[in-house]
Amino acid sequence: MIDFKNLHKKFGKLVVLNGLDLNIKEGGIFAILGPNGSGKTTLIKCLLGMVIPNEGTITYKNKSVLRKWDYRNDLNYLPQIANFPPNLTVLELIEMVKNLRPKQSNEQDLIKLFGLTDSLHKKLGNLSGGTKQKVNIVLTFMFDSNLIILDEPTNGLDPIALIHLKELILKEKAKGKTILITTHIMSFVDEMADEIVFILDGKIYFKGSVDALKTQTKNDNLEHAIANLI
Ligand code: ADP
Repeated sequence: MIDFKNLHKKFGKLVVLNGLDLNIKEGGIFAILGPNGSGKTTLIKCLLGMVIPNEGTITYKNKSVLRKWDYRNDLNYLPQIANFPPNLTVLELIEMVKNLRPKQSNEQDLIKLFGLTDSLHKKLGNLSGGTKQKVNIVLTFMFDSNLIILDEPTNGLDPIALIHLKELILKEKAKGKTILITTHIMSFVDEMADEIVFILDGKIYFKGSVDALKTQTKNDNLEHAIANLI
């Protein structure tokens, strides 16, 4: 479904992606792990056309995403940092997003699920980080789409919200959707990811099951670095 080939990205002298190759098949939960600063968000932003790679190609269903953005209606994206307009209320933002994307939406169920009913008339600038993240999740899951990209979705969430988020992700998987999750917390994807990739030094260091990653890391010098994530 998605194919990254020989992707290179530098910011000044900092080499973030260094000839990365990765293929993601359709359907299932695909986790992108790696230490902070390893390039997970940069990879996602390249896929979304928000960062332009210095070299390499990215295709979505065999079409280049660097030139064609017509697949954008087919995806829901949860950004790592949600830059919400601080003076809008939660409800005003949800209504605005609904108007921008006139598709059927199920925000009411999600608002209840994440306990946001009492926050609907609060200004976004006054919300806690965790509540903002819940709004971010509602905006991401309220529309149906084939590809769901979640960049560090657990940020600031309480344990109950984490359980609800996991359930939402599993429901989408059961519908045959493709879900890409970047995280530095392995326990979040441990039980649900169909496939894991681990980014290190700008390349894919590992691709396979969670168990295989744990076995492999025991066998080399990176055990310590990766132990922090498990
Ligand atoms: P991760 O998501 O794995 O934590 P990122 O992709 O966010 O990592 O960042 C990788 C590295 O690139 C970091 O060192 C980060 O500071 C740097 N970086 C990311 N975006 C920019 C940018 N726009 N300008 C300069 N440096 C950046």
